Amino acid sequence: MTLFDWHKPLWQRLLADPEKLPHALLLAGPEGLGKLAFAQALAARLLCEQAPVESDGVACGHCTACIWLASGNHPDLRLIQPEEADESDEAGGDASLQAAPRKPGQGQIRVDQIRALEDFVFVGSHRHGKRVALISPAELMNPAGANCLLKILEEPPAGVYFILVSSHWRRLLPTVLSRCRSIHFGRPDQAAAERWLAGQGVSAAAELLQLAGGAPLIAAAWAEQGRLDAYRKVIATLAEKPVDPVAMAAKWATLLKTDQEFALPQLVEAVQKWVFDLGLMKIAGACRYHEAWRSQLEKLAATASGSGLMACYNDLLRIRAVARHPLNTQLFLEDMAARYLRALTTGRS
Ligand SMILES: [Zn+2]
Repeated sequence: MTLFDWHKPLWQRLLADPEKLPHALLLAGPEGLGKLAFAQALAARLLCEQAPVESDGVACGHCTACIWLASGNHPDLRLIQPEEADESDEAGGDASLQAAPRKPGQGQIRVDQIRALEDFVFVGSHRHGKRVALISPAELMNPAGANCLLKILEEPPAGVYFILVSSHWRRLLPTVLSRCRSIHFGRPDQAAAERWLAGQGVSAAAELLQLAGGAPLIAAAWAEQGRLDAYRKVIATLAEKPVDPVAMAAKWATLLKTDQEFALPQLVEAVQKWVFDLGLMKIAGACRYHEAWRSQLEKLAATASGSGLMACYNDLLRIRAVARHPLNTQLFLEDMAARYLRALTTGRS
């Protein structure tokens, strides 16, 4: 079980008195910080049969319970996650642009998955009393599932712990939220995150971490997919002297064709982050994602229109929702390029 360095202070606070751990916890915070790993480490600590009672240590890793956990077979742990998407949805390149519509219930945590927890929590434990149900991402419970969970949380059986993990916790039912103790995860200290990335063999850690909004696990995943190169190419198209939208769209189309890992939703996200930073540069002389391109941002922001950038950012938020299924990819790219270039040029005169 991994306990990341940046989680240790939180872990120590939470486990200062393990016997007083609340029976329903919500681990909330942005994606890519390792909340699920924290939840799994906590579940392991609760189920471990050799963990000292009054200690903030982690699971021992070698008792029977820990060995069962490592093999994914502990009878007193339930991990509830959404049904897997079909493999066809995961295909890269053009196929992912035309992905089939989801089947009903796919990508959700269904009510029967939560209902199955009733047997789990109300029937006794297999080992020494504690049982853990881990629900991730909790916001994907459908309404019937959330209501079913609520009923269980209203009268929690002794020795049962619910750990909900969510990056979008505001979507949870308020009644579910009110029954959980919320633990908020913030982005880790930059130096700690960079140190961890370097330890994972990630080069250009600082640049990747910034592009990933400070989320180390996202930065690590991008490094593994070689996504930094694609990002740099997109930024190069955005940072150069404004050209015409058709030429800009053609460059993006080439990039999408040559890099299977970099699909349209990623492109829209990259453009969106760039426009966000242009707006921030315009208003406050700062940037959040692109420190390495500060001079280009400054130059473009100087002549761009603040309200134009704001409008473009809002447009991108909207079109990001349809980026998985555009009717016509080329038109989509040209439209996005036109909106961007308009925001850059409307400030001039
Ligand atoms: Zn153990």
